Amino acid sequence: MGRKTIRPKNRFEVFKRDNFTCQYCGRKISDNVILHADHIVPVAEGGTSDMHNLVTACQDCNLGKGARLLGSTPDSKAFDVEEQTERISQMKAFSQAQIDMVDEIERQLEAAKEYWWRLTNGSATPDLRSVRMFIKSIGLVEVMDAMDRAVVKTGGDWRYFYATCHHKLRDKKEALNVVVPTVPTRPYYNDSDF
Ligand SMILES: [Zn+2]
Repeated sequence: MGRKTIRPKNRFEVFKRDNFTCQYCGRKISDNVILHADHIVPVAEGGTSDMHNLVTACQDCNLGKGARLLGSTPDSKAFDVEEQTERISQMKAFSQAQIDMVDEIERQLEAAKEYWWRLTNGSATPDLRSVRMFIKSIGLVEVMDAMDRAVVKTGGDWRYFYATCHHKLRDKKEALNVVVPTVPTRPYYNDSDF
């Protein structure tokens, strides 16, 4: 079962949402696995194929959960071809998702520059690499909040902006550490993934 019952578009939306990462073991498509969209509540128990009932799982984890695999015999030729075709599709979608993410971060960087420029009546952002890094790690909304604080507290001191972003990043990591022990083996992602 698994992917046969789920529309391809939905399946890839699930992978994209989960950053092409198995949500059980943390392995990614780039770790040479093939991904499945796994039903959280099985279809046999009334689970639907909506996004909220689907989670990205690698083949091993999906198998381990109860042998709900592709439906054909694993050693047949047809299975191999189908699996290889599927994996190529998944790698292509992963590449495209990464390109989209880079484009999106550059758009957000432009928005942050524009926002700072308006807040400070025309000051340039001194270090775009730092701003980009913070956008990737804490998100644009938090970066803009840090800009607001820097302007309110100091009239626009970049050191205050950096310090605020660092605090936000530390808080986020601490919050993640509370969550991590509930993950079976390792965290789903780390900062280097962004
Ligand atoms: Zn897995």
